[in-house]
Amino acid sequence: MNLILFGPPAAGKGTQAKKLVAERGFVQLSTGDMLREAIASETELGRRVKSILEEGGLVSDAVVIALIGEQLTANKGAAGFIFDGFPRTVPQAEALDELLSARGTEVDCVVRLVVDEEALIERVTKRYEEQGRKDDNPATFSIRLGKYNQDTAPLIPIYAEKGKLHEVDGMAPIEVVSAGIDAALKVVA
Ligand code: AMP
Repeated sequence: MNLILFGPPAAGKGTQAKKLVAERGFVQLSTGDMLREAIASETELGRRVKSILEEGGLVSDAVVIALIGEQLTANKGAAGFIFDGFPRTVPQAEALDELLSARGTEVDCVVRLVVDEEALIERVTKRYEEQGRKDDNPATFSIRLGKYNQDTAPLIPIYAEKGKLHEVDGMAPIEVVSAGIDAALKVVA
């Protein structure tokens, strides 16, 4: 199963991905987590991308595509993959199709967490106060939301046309969102 969890930053993708990992043994591939790990361990990649993440910009397609390719190889034979925060651009989506087709698989399901932008801003302000993630500060978050609307949202009609898009109300309580994702996975399985 190759599942893309889709939605703007702070829509709850990470929370749902972690539940799927715990309940189904899927492997979560979060490019945001991989980049933050690289920054924390001060690798060369980490040094290159640090300011981009802090400013709310997007890292180059080539960098994140390479990270995903490495992880697909490293986790060969996994029960399923959850793509969290990837793809974020049309070229990334095309590259993902190629990476999966080279492995004899494809994107099975795209679950879009549909959220209200105003409510998201409130959610992130709270997360900023609790966790202090630099890129959650209101000014940077609005840049991230702008990037999502400009570069990532165009993937919605593309996946819809392919018949892969399932929409779930991301504003619902966590358990209700999970049930919506389970229902989408049942349709595909
Ligand atoms: P996230 O945790 O998914 O919100 O990602 C945090 C940050 O990492 C983003 O604001 C981007 O700077 C960078 N990032 C994560 N995934 C990608 C991606 N697929 N393409 C480009 N940049 C990314």
